Amino acid sequence: MHSDQFSDKVLTWFDKNGRKHLPWQQDITPYRVWISEIMLQQTQVTTVIPYYQRFMQRFPTIHSLATAPIDDVLHHWTGLGYYARARNLHKAAIQIVEDHTGVFPEQIENVMALPGIGRSTAGAILSIASGQSHPILDGNVKRVLARYFAIEGWPGKKPVENALWEKASQLTPTKRTGHYTQAMMDLGATLCTRSRPKCDLCPLQQSCLAYAQGRQSEFPGKKPKKVLPAKQAHLMVLQCANRVWMQQRPPAGLWGGLWSFYQQDTQHAVFEWSKYWNLIDTPTQFDAFRHTFSHFHLDITVWHCHIRDVQTHFVTEDNSRWVALDEQESIGLAAPTKRILDALR
Ligand code: SF4
Repeated sequence: MHSDQFSDKVLTWFDKNGRKHLPWQQDITPYRVWISEIMLQQTQVTTVIPYYQRFMQRFPTIHSLATAPIDDVLHHWTGLGYYARARNLHKAAIQIVEDHTGVFPEQIENVMALPGIGRSTAGAILSIASGQSHPILDGNVKRVLARYFAIEGWPGKKPVENALWEKASQLTPTKRTGHYTQAMMDLGATLCTRSRPKCDLCPLQQSCLAYAQGRQSEFPGKKPKKVLPAKQAHLMVLQCANRVWMQQRPPAGLWGGLWSFYQQDTQHAVFEWSKYWNLIDTPTQFDAFRHTFSHFHLDITVWHCHIRDVQTHFVTEDNSRWVALDEQESIGLAAPTKRILDALR
């Protein structure tokens, strides 16, 4: 579809269905649009409305915001979350007073130089409040465009984001840009929703690639999961009556300073170690599970065997002791060790 046709369809849909009575859509000024755009980041329209009204009542102008104490600004933000947004608003208001004589800048570069305002927010403010033709690419628009053009990949990756910006720029009309900006945000928020998009009501359905391919849920691409390497660990639980042999691990490294069972990388190594003890049975597998750390998986196999009498055998290793299963010991245990102890009990 030609870009004019795309924006025509979106605008026709907006004229019939778009939201036009939100507080920041009345008495439009760059300041009012700016505050609304920042409040709407990661926050639902219905949540924002009362905050927006209180905020505008208390800080009706850039000057009133710039001269207010930060505590007062934060107070009016309480409950909205992401407080860096409020701090940046305050800083930016001061900067506008100092560098732009208190008038919201008209050049996109100057707007983007203000704290807390990225390219998309700058584009939204200038298109809605001043009718300038700038593309936007907030989360909603990313979703619409990724689906419409079936753009593969996670938008957090630069090449994917760049491809989306390119499409956004090509499609943004030179006329009625403010309405187009609002229309795209509305379309993403109300029709092209994250789950179960309402494609049957969508003005873009005819030429939407994700719709044609039935792949709406695949766009935008998800953040790739890190593929973690898997390491092996074999543990030997040596039990004598109701006690098990445990060892405190060295202070540095994995589970540093915590108490654990005898551990090696291979089954062979733990079996060799167990031969030094006077075993009354052959070790058998007690448990096997995966424990995941931030950088790797640890596939743990737990072996279990018994010895007859603790007293008659040496306990020479430093930092080792017999731990009674029926006592809640106040020793530091890693989660997998605790799991094994609980199972033994
Ligand atoms: S047709 Fe469906 S997937 Fe495509 S843009 Fe519209 S709502 Fe989104």
